[in-house]
Amino acid sequence: MDQKKLEAQISQYPVCEYAFIRPEAIPFLEEVRYICRTECPQYGRSWSCPPAVGTVEECKERCMACTGGFLFTTIAEVKDAADLSETLSTRREHERITGEIRELFREECGEVLVLSTESCAVCERCAYPEAPCRHPEHMFPCLESYGILVTRLAEENGISFMNGGNVVTWFSLILYR
Ligand code: SF4
Repeated sequence: MDQKKLEAQISQYPVCEYAFIRPEAIPFLEEVRYICRTECPQYGRSWSCPPAVGTVEECKERCMACTGGFLFTTIAEVKDAADLSETLSTRREHERITGEIRELFREECGEVLVLSTESCAVCERCAYPEAPCRHPEHMFPCLESYGILVTRLAEENGISFMNGGNVVTWFSLILYR
């Protein structure tokens, strides 16, 4: 993989911070899955969320089959970070950037696995569980759905989790092999 070439290409995007990581260093925790199960309204409602994504162990195996990862953030300023609809409206742009950076890694590495933010919102109503995912190409499970403790992953890689009171920080992880 030509990392320098990729970094030059990625510099064209509004990426805030990034780090190349080793899949073995990703913190997988059953406790994260427990929070999904007990606190998230999307649990059991999307192909991008548990239990559809598999057990934490299965998710970990998928990640470990990769040879490297590219963790990055984008940020968006909002008027009021407590306003969920305003905050979530900034996510679409992050997902678009994630999709484009995914293509750069695909061209360079071939196989990629993309994890991003929140439950997939591509369709108005998810096809889960009655029918298969309608747009698997555009569906990125969120990092937490894989049992990943994003705060620790960010901290261990020198990436800021918080960037100010009314600034939303979105994370994505592109795993490649
Ligand atoms: S693309 Fe549609 S069907 Fe697939 S996970 Fe997202 S919302 Fe569900």
